[in-house]
Amino acid sequence: MEQMRSFGFICPHCGQANLHQRSVFALSAAAARMECACGKSSLLAETDGTKFRLQVPCGLCGKTHQAQCSADEVLSGRGIGLSCPDTGRLCCYIGEEPAVAAAMETLAVQVEKDKTDTPEAFTDNVIMYEVLSELKDLAARDAISCSCGSHRYSMRVGRASVDLICGDCGGRLRLPAATDEDLDRLCCQMKLEIRGRK
Ligand SMILES: [Zn+2]
Ligand SMILES: [Zn+2]
Ligand SMILES: [Zn+2]
Repeated sequence: MEQMRSFGFICPHCGQANLHQRSVFALSAAAARMECACGKSSLLAETDGTKFRLQVPCGLCGKTHQAQCSADEVLSGRGIGLSCPDTGRLCCYIGEEPAVAAAMETLAVQVEKDKTDTPEAFTDNVIMYEVLSELKDLAARDAISCSCGSHRYSMRVGRASVDLICGDCGGRLRLPAATDEDLDRLCCQMKLEIRGRK
């Protein structure tokens, strides 16, 4: 049976985890291009017999990295990971399929997580955190209600504000959560009342 090697990377354009397979024979014979299904990025591997030159699309920083490794590392053994020079983390794996597939799964989860908790999610992270914990205290004292009489509400967190939405009438109270003044204003409230629609 022909010996296969796997290449894994995250597409910087569509975020898809890519897992490609090439035979050792094919890799030694000619340059290999492994393209993401979206068509916007591809990994290039080219060898002169002793070294491999690689161009790796990086899902972590969005650039394409050049790398050089020995042909032995690429074509045999347990495998290697290439790290992103910008983030210092591994962004590409080459080796045996099960190991590469497992590493790619972990990487895809990390990249997804990075996207959801980017530091720019809120205008001011500290203020937002304080506002949310203040709201938690108010909720614990049952101090949030609606003028329609309801005590049920849901919370929607935005970049620079938090909306409290009455669960019964749909009334809304917007609390700005971006500056020290926003926080001070909230901290001196004994209770919050949503202006109801009824
Ligand atoms: Zn893609
Ligand atoms: Zn990178
Ligand atoms: Zn209401």
